[in-house]
Amino acid sequence: MERTVFDQEHELFRDSVEHFTATEILPNHATWEHQGKVDKAMFRAAGDAGLLGMAVPDEYGGGGVDDFRYNAVISEVFAASGAGASGACITLHNDICLPYFLEYADDEQRKRWLPGLADGDLMTAIAMTEPGTGSDLGGIVTTARPDGGDYVINGSKTFISNGINADLVIVVSRTGEDPHGGLTLFIVEDGMEGFERGRNLDKIGFHAQDTAELFFNDVRVPASNRLGEEGMAFGQLIMNLPQERFSIAVSAVAGAEAAFTLTLAYAKERMAFGRPIGSFQHNRFVLAEMKTEIDLGRVFVDRLLEEHIAGRLTVEQAAEAKWWSTEMLRRVVDHGLQMHGGYGYMLEYPISRAFVDARVQTIYGGTTEIMKEIIGRGLGV
Ligand SMILES: Cc1cc2nc3c(=O)[nH]c(=O)nc-3n(C[C@H](O)[C@H](O)[C@H](O)COP(=O)(O)OP(=O)(O)OC[C@H]3O[C@@H](n4cnc5c(N)ncnc54)[C@H](O)[C@@H]3O)c2cc1C
Repeated sequence: MERTVFDQEHELFRDSVEHFTATEILPNHATWEHQGKVDKAMFRAAGDAGLLGMAVPDEYGGGGVDDFRYNAVISEVFAASGAGASGACITLHNDICLPYFLEYADDEQRKRWLPGLADGDLMTAIAMTEPGTGSDLGGIVTTARPDGGDYVINGSKTFISNGINADLVIVVSRTGEDPHGGLTLFIVEDGMEGFERGRNLDKIGFHAQDTAELFFNDVRVPASNRLGEEGMAFGQLIMNLPQERFSIAVSAVAGAEAAFTLTLAYAKERMAFGRPIGSFQHNRFVLAEMKTEIDLGRVFVDRLLEEHIAGRLTVEQAAEAKWWSTEMLRRVVDHGLQMHGGYGYMLEYPISRAFVDARVQTIYGGTTEIMKEIIGRGLGV
């Protein structure tokens, strides 16, 4: 199906992202999976190649173009290449963390941070989840206590993507008692006294992406590292989570397309009972269903991409796209693995990686159940 959402410049950009993926990511992906994180040199190379901070104004060294289609191109190329876990540090930085700096940093903070965010000197992470609370942000207990013009942060976070590699971490902290109105964003910098990284967590998939525990023990943060006003964080998150969720949906549809392509090729070539396995009616129907669902997802996500660049993507639409696309991806990789038979269970077959990497997508960025809660609330029920 022809796609109409991208222009020629986006397709040229796609070529350069594909080149970057082929030269800088894929040759190193296995090493990074082994070590549980990418080398930061790749992130800096991404900055040099123009893959970071496309929306950062040019006066700060960014691309100067606020057009989420460039972000979508990056997500699609990474997901299609099977190296989504290596590239995730880039999409997390661009799609999820950067908007907080662009929207809420004051002039001094913009001068201090935006150049490094655009050229790859500063990798970011966002730390909301805590050991005791994930879906319920109102349950955050990490505190930031005002102290002589500074704040002192105490608490811990877990499951933080880029948690080991990040230079700047956006930390959602409690400055007041109101569950939602008492939350404030702070930028905690690498090397601040009392800021410690815990384990790089051992996951079932996404092995090239570092996911860590973070500890804050009396971390003294100057007020000039507060992003926005006290008590604004919940509103800031509500404004930005739709793009985070939509970004995951974009990646899920592209990942499903890639898994389908692998599966179809295998189904045509693998023989059983004297026939290609794809020619058995059951498998033909499964492939037909996979293709139909992917096409539906593609049309929906492309349409919402248009809405997003027009500034009209709603919280509920992003939630719909997130849960449906990621659940669709889950079905597609499961069917894909099954159709590969025993080979599908072998790590040397890319469908096995697609299977484990897909699993987290219905969980992070807000679970499927929470997405349905959001949509349901929007319906007034
Ligand atoms: C690989 C990975 C990377 C991550 N990266 C980050 C990151 O960079 N930054 C960050 O802050 N967090 C990150 N997370 C955390 C992720 O966002 C949370 O795991 C997720 O939001 C769910 O929170 P939880 O794990 O505490 O589950 P819980 O909130 O404890 O939920 C457990 C189960 O209960 C269900 N549930 C909860 N409330 C309801 C409800 N009201 N109705 C119905 N069902 C409900 C959930 O859907 C889920 O199935 C990451 C997680 C993973 C696994």
